[in-house]
Parts: sequence; structure tokens; C-alpha cells
Amino acid sequence: MARDLLDRLGLTNHHRVIAGYAGGPEPRDGIVGSVNPATGKTIAGVRLDTADSYEETIQRATAAFKRWRAVPAPKRGEVVRAIGDELRARKEDLGRLVSLEVGKILAEGIGEVQETVDIADFAVGLSRQLYGLTMPSERPQHAMREQWLPLGPIGVITAFNFPNAVWGWNAMLAAVCGDVTVWKPSLLAPLTAIATNEVARVVAASMGHQGIFELVIGTDEEIGERMIADKRVPLISATGSCRMGRHVSQQVAARLGRCLLELGGNNAVIVEPDADLDLALKGVVFGSVGTCGQRCTTTRRLIIHESIADAFYEKLAKAYETVKIGDPLAPGTLVGPLINERAAEGFERAIAAAKDQGGQVLAGGNRVSSGEVASELSGGTYVRPTVVRAPAGKPFPVAQEETFAPILYVFTYRTLDEAIELHNSVDQGLSSAIYTGSVRSAERFLDPSGSGSDCGLAYVNLGTSGAEIGGAFGGEKDTGGGRESGSDSWKAYMRRQTCTINFGETFALAQGIRFE
Ligand code: NAD
Repeated sequence: MARDLLDRLGLTNHHRVIAGYAGGPEPRDGIVGSVNPATGKTIAGVRLDTADSYEETIQRATAAFKRWRAVPAPKRGEVVRAIGDELRARKEDLGRLVSLEVGKILAEGIGEVQETVDIADFAVGLSRQLYGLTMPSERPQHAMREQWLPLGPIGVITAFNFPNAVWGWNAMLAAVCGDVTVWKPSLLAPLTAIATNEVARVVAASMGHQGIFELVIGTDEEIGERMIADKRVPLISATGSCRMGRHVSQQVAARLGRCLLELGGNNAVIVEPDADLDLALKGVVFGSVGTCGQRCTTTRRLIIHESIADAFYEKLAKAYETVKIGDPLAPGTLVGPLINERAAEGFERAIAAAKDQGGQVLAGGNRVSSGEVASELSGGTYVRPTVVRAPAGKPFPVAQEETFAPILYVFTYRTLDEAIELHNSVDQGLSSAIYTGSVRSAERFLDPSGSGSDCGLAYVNLGTSGAEIGGAFGGEKDTGGGRESGSDSWKAYMRRQTCTINFGETFALAQGIRFE
């Protein structure tokens, strides 16, 4: 089945791909194995870039940028529209490949590609709306305006868990802005990157535009470091852990480049006593177990009013028991595997630390043993989504960290102010939510003075996980401050120029300065 899929996506004949490769995920002799986390079996090998091929790619991208920026933005939009159409046509296959390579259930794999299609549509409209402002000059017979100009070849570093959509958010906007994308994907999902990039590359080339979508696949030491230090790449858009973002931002800052950082989250949901509790339960369960807890927006903390906590825990534990864990491509599965053994060890370490720190496991808490899944899945890394009650009145440091696994820590509160303080007490600031029946509480959570949620995304009566492409996506604090996707996020991919024109004959200085 995997072979047919690779054939349909043109991967078996691709010069980078070695079908039938039996090596593992550790790069060896210039090859990395892409492993299906549901089975532990290698899907195919992928040839890695070297310092020389990186150099060739950047030179190609730099030359292509000079041609692409000269194409009028609405014409660039036409290319993006054709890419969106091709992605639409291949949505099912690409979504299946996402599921195969990173283990998310098929509906989410396909949903991810839909997100790229959506952002392509958005970008097409945007290609006619890269508006600058005009402003009155203080000098007679002078005009002032701002214009937005293409920036250059953009470096896009992506995390394993959204191997298609994060590229889409960046590449579709960058393309209409007149930039060329050089994509460095995660080594855990190189096949999705090759197949996705090929769609864009081939469509653009068929319309006469070569080199707009480039791909470099390699280790962080050989390729990642080279790219972030490269002055020819004016913007690095990096999605991944806070640890990675801290390093990347320092390297890019050292050469005075620009960074757009989309880093880890530690997202919480507050549930008020007057909330619609069925709605809250659905949102919390999807948010905490969906994608096996491997979304940046996964719900990691539940902050619930003490008067409803016990009844809610009971319902939560029941819901967790019924969640079907297994093959992400099988109908009915809600939770697939973790990405690899290292992630499963991280899950176990966090649960051990939580118990040490006084936490009480209310649901899950362990791995799914190989005997509990079908034999072909015995090499996969399956864990049971877990709920841990935090100890009352004691520090609980494990909940300050993002463990990229389905663990939900639950806390209780008495007043909303206390809940918001607890909510904001972590280093990350990505996604946040409140379930409430009260306009006052909802507005308190969104208080425009800034005293409510300190996150980049704030939801009322819906969960933390997932976002629509129309709004700007990103987070504050250790999440990195970047914004991608909708609204005016496109500005990150352009440079702003303030233009002043003297159409008169007098020598006039600003601030009324006389120089005669
Ligand atoms: P990771 O930090 O291990 O890797 C992310 C990417 O950074 C990979 O492509 C990796 O190769 C690259 N990288 C690492 N070191 C580098 C270096 N020195 N130079 C250049 N590139 C380097 O993250 P991951 O495990 O792939 O993904 C999970 C993390 O990503 C979680 O923390 C999650 O919250 C975060 N994430 C954030 C968002 C968001 O939009 N905020 C979206 C998805 C994932």
C-alpha cells in the first residue's frame, strides 16, 4: 500500500528517494530512513544534502528571486492558485502520506493538506492586496507613501508534526510576496516534504518559473546551521521547540537577520462552573488527546473550578477510556502513535516526575504494550492518553514544561483571577481557552488591558487545539512572538520602504530646519 502511494506521488522515481531502503532514522552514509511510527518500519530512504549541494541550492534560489520579484504580484498569485488546485487534487494522497510518516490519523492528515489549500486561496486574494499606506507630508509639494517590497530567498525550517501545512503557511504567502522559499524540513518527515515541494515546484516550472520552491534536506549540523548563518537568507521562519528557537534566533541575530519563530506551547483551558460542560468536555478531550498530544496547540493544562472538578474528572476519565488507540490509517482510530521511541521515553519520564512531585494519575499513565495492538503495529510507539491531577498548594514543575505527548495536568481554582494567574504562570504563550456562560468572565479573559490571557491565541467556548488560517497564528513569551498565516502576517515576508517625493521646486527640510 505504501509503495502504491509513493508511486502515485512520484516518490519512487524521485532522485532523492531510495525505495526499499532498510536503514533507520539515524542519518548514515548520506541517507536518512523515513520511519512509519505506527509500525516502526522504514518507508523509504532519502538522500541528504551536502555543503556543496546546499551552496548550489542557495545560488539557484538567489538567481530565481531576482526573476520572481519582477513578476507582478497578481501574476504570482496565479501561480499560487494553480499550486492550490494541484494540492486540492492530491489532497487525499498527500494526507495519507502525512499519516504514514508522522502517525496522525487520516482525517487530520487530510485536514492538514486542506490547510495548505486554504492558505493558498488566501494568498491568491492577498496577491492583489499588498497594500501600503500613504501619509500627508509636512512639507509643501511633497508626497509620502510606504511600499512593501519582496525580501529575498526565505529559509523555512519546519517541525515534524505539521510536515505539510507549516510549509504552506510560509511558502504560499512568501510566493505572492515575491520571495523564493528554501525549505529545510524535519528529518522525521522528509518524504512529505519532497512530495509537497514537488507539487509546487512542478506547477511553478510549468508556468515558466524555475527555482521558486527549493528544498534542502540534511542534518542540523551540516545544513541547518549553514542556513541560519547564511546572510543571503534574510528571513528564517523556524517552527519547532523553544530550545531550537533560542539557538536559531541567536545565530540569526548575530548576523542581524530576521527571524519568525513559532515555538512550543503549554496551553491551558479554564472551565467555569456555569460553562456548557458537554461542550467543554469535547473540547478538552480533542485538545489533549488529538494528534496523540503532538500539536503545538495541544491542551496540556486544565484549570477547573473546584465546585465541578470531581464530576468533570469522572467524565474525562470515562472519555479517555473509550478513545480508540491504534493504526492511524484505520477507520475509527482517534489516537495514533507517538513519533518515535525518544518521544515515548519523554512521556514516561514526565509521568514519573509528575508522580514524584505529588501528582495523581486519573487516567492512562503508561504505554500500550505490543501485545495490545495488532501484530503489524507491534513496532509502533503507542501510549495511553493520560490525565494527572496536580497536588493542591504545592509546586508542580513538570507542568511548566511542554512534554510533546498526550498528558493533561489538571488544577482547580476558586476565583477567576486565580485561574488566570495560574493560566499565565508558564513560560510559553501560544493558545488559551475559557469555557464559560458569562459575558463578564469571557471578556475578563480577553481584557484589552492585557490582564487576561497572555497568549497569542485566545478562545471562548472552544478548545486550544487547531486554528483557522484567516487569523494571524503564533504565540508570545517563549513561543517566540512570530505570526504566520492570515491577517497581516504577510508583512513578515516583505521589506517596508517609506518613500518621500518632492514634486515642487523648493528645498524644504523636515522639522522646519533652515539650511541656507
Ligand atoms: P525540533 O525543535 O526538534 O525541530 C524543529 C526543526 O528545527 C527541525 O526541522 C529541526 O531539524 C530544526 N533544527 C533543530 N536544530 C536546528 C539548528 N541548530 N539549525 C537549524 N535547524 C534546526 O522540534 P520537533 O520535535 O520537530 O517539533 C515539535 C516542537 O515544535 C514542539 O515544541 C511544538 O510545540 C513545536 N511546534 C510549534 C508550532 C507553532 O506554530 N508554534 C507548530 C508546530 C510545532
